[in-house]
Amino acid sequence: MNEFDSVVEAIEAGWELDDILQLIVTNGQVLLDLQHGYIVLYEAEQLWLKANTSNLPTRVLAPTSAEARVVAMGRAVALEPIQALPLWRTLEFALKPDARGWLSAPIRLNGHTVGALAAFAEPSDNEPLREALRFMTVLADLAALALERGQFWLRHQRRSQFIALLRTISGIIQQQSLGDLAHTIAHQLCEIGNADLALMYIPSPETEEFVTLGLSDTPLALQIRELGLDHIPLASNALLHECYQTGQAQRLALTNEQWPELAQLGVQQLLIVPIHDTHERLGVIVLASLQDTRFDDDALNFLNFIGVRLGYALKNENLLEEVVQAERRRINEDERSNFIASVAHDLKNALTTVIGTTQLGMRKLRRGDQSYNEKAFNTIATKSQQALQLIEDMVDVSRLEQGTFRLFIQSIDLVQLVADEAEAARGLSQRHTIQFSSSLEHYELAADQQRLRQVLANLLINAIRYSPDGGTISVRIMDADHAPAPSNASISSESELDQAIVISVSDQGIGIPEHELPYIFERFYRGQGSTVASGSGLGLYISAAIMAQHGGKMWVESKLNHGTTFYCSLPAARVM
Ligand code: ADP
Repeated sequence: MNEFDSVVEAIEAGWELDDILQLIVTNGQVLLDLQHGYIVLYEAEQLWLKANTSNLPTRVLAPTSAEARVVAMGRAVALEPIQALPLWRTLEFALKPDARGWLSAPIRLNGHTVGALAAFAEPSDNEPLREALRFMTVLADLAALALERGQFWLRHQRRSQFIALLRTISGIIQQQSLGDLAHTIAHQLCEIGNADLALMYIPSPETEEFVTLGLSDTPLALQIRELGLDHIPLASNALLHECYQTGQAQRLALTNEQWPELAQLGVQQLLIVPIHDTHERLGVIVLASLQDTRFDDDALNFLNFIGVRLGYALKNENLLEEVVQAERRRINEDERSNFIASVAHDLKNALTTVIGTTQLGMRKLRRGDQSYNEKAFNTIATKSQQALQLIEDMVDVSRLEQGTFRLFIQSIDLVQLVADEAEAARGLSQRHTIQFSSSLEHYELAADQQRLRQVLANLLINAIRYSPDGGTISVRIMDADHAPAPSNASISSESELDQAIVISVSDQGIGIPEHELPYIFERFYRGQGSTVASGSGLGLYISAAIMAQHGGKMWVESKLNHGTTFYCSLPAARVM
């Protein structure tokens, strides 16, 4: 029998706790090729040195000790080399001045860290300490099991599966792909729990949904996917929501009202436990059975234990970040397909109007009626222009996303360019007065003339569109020193370059509510005011990208019902 299994056997055989802990440190030391293995445990609010391989007597450790830190953090730690970390060098370290490193894993029980397993690494050893840490975590779990004295995983002869599961969960600490691990964990949970389905949900703040982190490989799981139950709106499922909110584990006979989709698939019994560490809840695990008496209290205890273990492992922030990233990708994909649908809709609308107006015009012409034509041509031109704009925006977005958006740089006079655009905008609306002023007569710079025109046209068209009652639109050019500084909430992108010149476009229109300001430069974002005009939510996104490519910035200031000012700034020297 190997050193690992003998620890499990000792727990199973009901050895005295002290003897089991001693076996864990001794066998752990051999298994991991370590020096001076020891266990510290909290008792009567003090941290005691318990089992150890150097025959040291039981004594109290200082609250500032390295072991107390591991317990306080609730995280496994590998220090290498220990000499470089003076803060961690407390009493125990004096025992092993020549050790290469030190590693320690917290011992957790019922959601609390109650102690730690620790050891020093041999000076000669080449194996990375982090490898050993993974196994150390499993040994610390065995110590916790010994402390808990629960026998449920042994009684069901699921010992080796259970240990495999603990090992898998410890693997999370080693930063393997979380998706794969979660899948394996769900699969193992199903086997050990003798369940028909295992699901792990974590909440996604971005979509306000529970999303599956892991799903078992069972036939029932496939049906769950098909039903779209791998994403559930946070508040829509009382069972999940309650468990997540209160941290209360439950074993229940499922009724149709509680979770109709599962009940209709024939699920009769459920176990629901929270995934949590000492500080917060991170998600929910669900085990489901097609029979009504499969799970007993032991199974619930077991799942609770796993919920906590998984909670600590998931607490690794990078991994949670990984999940958030995956969600973000999913949202982007959804967004893109929605976008294609909405562009197709807008294009169809525009073209249907063009075709309808043309046909009606032709019929009238055939009857010798000329009166209709001027209005018809106008409509056709406007609608065709809208369709063309949409297509051009789409091409720009796709180039921006693929990194193939290029500028064609030439020397231009910015003052002339802005004056031209202001003049062109006068032709777009009779209800608005468009003013232009500049503190400089000329301003030469190297830039993409077409693209800067596009930005200005965009701002001017928006100023007209979002000022339905008319009013004055002012276009200004000024020295950057005389322009107001952008506020963080409204800026599109930061530039590291010193900005030399600023163009502003102000209107007296509907304004933008403060809470929308941080989003208006985002792709596809359309604010509440956009109901007054048609658009794609791409104009500002593309404009901001054009400014950024010039090394410039773009920002906005706005007051609801009073008006909006957009600012664009450019550096003196263009940087490609
Ligand atoms: P859209 O095609 O919707 O106009 P944009 O990217 O140009 O897309 O603008 C994004 C959103 O910013 C608009 O939907 C609107 O809510 C808001 N917005 C832009 N310009 C103005 C403005 N001058 N006044 C008020 N709101 C504006």
